[in-house]
Amino acid sequence: MSLPRSLAEAVAVDAKSPLQPFRARFALPEGVIYLDGNSLGALPVQTVARTADVVTREWGERLIRSWNEADWIGAPQRIGAKIADIVGAAPGSVIVADSTSVNLFKLIVAGMRAQPGRTEILTEPGNFPTDLHIAEGVASLLPGVTVRTVDAADIAGAIGPRTAIVLLTHVHYKHGARHDMAALSAAARAAGALSVWDLSHSVGAVPVALDADGADMAVGCGYKYLNGGPGAPAFLYVCEALQARLDSPITGWMGHADPFAFGDGYAPAAGVSRFLAGTPSVIAMLALESGVDLFRDAPREALFARGAALFDLFVARMAMLLPELVCVTPRAAGARGSHVSFRHADAFPIMQALIERGVIGDYRAPDILRFGLTPLYVGLADVWRAVDVLAEVVGSGIWREPRFSVRGVVT
Ligand SMILES: *Cc1c(COP(=O)(O)O)cnc(C)c1O
Repeated sequence: MSLPRSLAEAVAVDAKSPLQPFRARFALPEGVIYLDGNSLGALPVQTVARTADVVTREWGERLIRSWNEADWIGAPQRIGAKIADIVGAAPGSVIVADSTSVNLFKLIVAGMRAQPGRTEILTEPGNFPTDLHIAEGVASLLPGVTVRTVDAADIAGAIGPRTAIVLLTHVHYKHGARHDMAALSAAARAAGALSVWDLSHSVGAVPVALDADGADMAVGCGYKYLNGGPGAPAFLYVCEALQARLDSPITGWMGHADPFAFGDGYAPAAGVSRFLAGTPSVIAMLALESGVDLFRDAPREALFARGAALFDLFVARMAMLLPELVCVTPRAAGARGSHVSFRHADAFPIMQALIERGVIGDYRAPDILRFGLTPLYVGLADVWRAVDVLAEVVGSGIWREPRFSVRGVVT
């Protein structure tokens, strides 16, 4: 696709996009260009009414009857099947539960225990912090287990006879590079190890094919590209062949084969449902389902193609207006996710000044300006304008005002 050469052309291309009607399905404030949907997805309009109905009618009026009547009890599997379709997984191989961090813990421990004699969790330095922290926590819990970090390019060659788990984030949260899931999953299997993929920056951002690519296990986030709401429940995947071999270390009653028999002894449910632990947060689950439903309405190929066009336009305009900001994200669409990152020593105050002007991206320590390109509600004209505003912020030096260097708890 050729890139627009003016704002007017960008507006015209947007107007013809099959994705353009989706913009109105999000409750975005006027005057804001939101380029942070990879950190917290925007609010779908339908989620407002859906959540109100869940609270006032399903909970308020129908009370406990809603567990059956509204199938609250089936939500983890029902929403899991919808997400399975997005990540290329068989319907029964994904459930929604807990947070990404907790799901990582459950799957890594399960994978370690299924492979006695193998003691190594292999991952990369600079992986998302929670992935590294959870791996470290698992290692401190299981005797003899260690975490080894190896640079991304050397992972395949580092998988050995002691490797139990190859733990990788598919699309890197900071620079946005994407691993070759098929090749690395195959390398893990060939060496007798299991792969665990973190899809937090992939699901809804780029095509994912867990089954076809031979992934063993995966986790992912509900509040980024799936627009599930702040702290939305996460999901987990276990490939069909492994499901009967893995057991959750959190043996809660919701993962029991027959929770409402109220027996004393634990027996795991069949399939991935055994990875449920406690009662899900129903309001949050159903808000997530609303976001997932909206995502599933969108034409998938057009969505990813528009994401690629947004990226290309962003990078091209930056190269023209702000060549001093180095793009750290790979250019090829197949080698990255749907965000774009630039390096600048003063990334923090620059981003704060940008946000004050209505262009919301985010800062990632120590020196990265990161922009999420979410084609459901961001168009080419937004990208055009955002780079203009960024060029004005950097060029004017306005970001040097001391107030832009004041840091909140969340950066
Ligand atoms: C956002 C993100 C998470 C979030 O984990 P939580 O448990 O929801 O806080 C995990 N991993 C990656 C790679 C992420 O980008």
